Amino acid sequence: MDASRLSAECAVAREDDGLRELHARCRRAEDVPVPHGRGLILVHRCPCSCHTDP
Ligand SMILES: [Zn+2]
Ligand SMILES: [Zn+2]
Repeated sequence: MDASRLSAECAVAREDDGLRELHARCRRAEDVPVPHGRGLILVHRCPCSCHTDP
């Protein structure tokens, strides 16, 4: 994974378990319309695994 692409929040959160809540502040994910009209989804602009569905 290219850690340099992480948001500042996620970079810090990955370094320190005590700061995991910072993942929720990541600004590199945003709601955008889905092309086929199925509503909104989070687009993951940040490669942090916290944004990846299991
Ligand atoms: Zn994250
Ligand atoms: Zn992130």
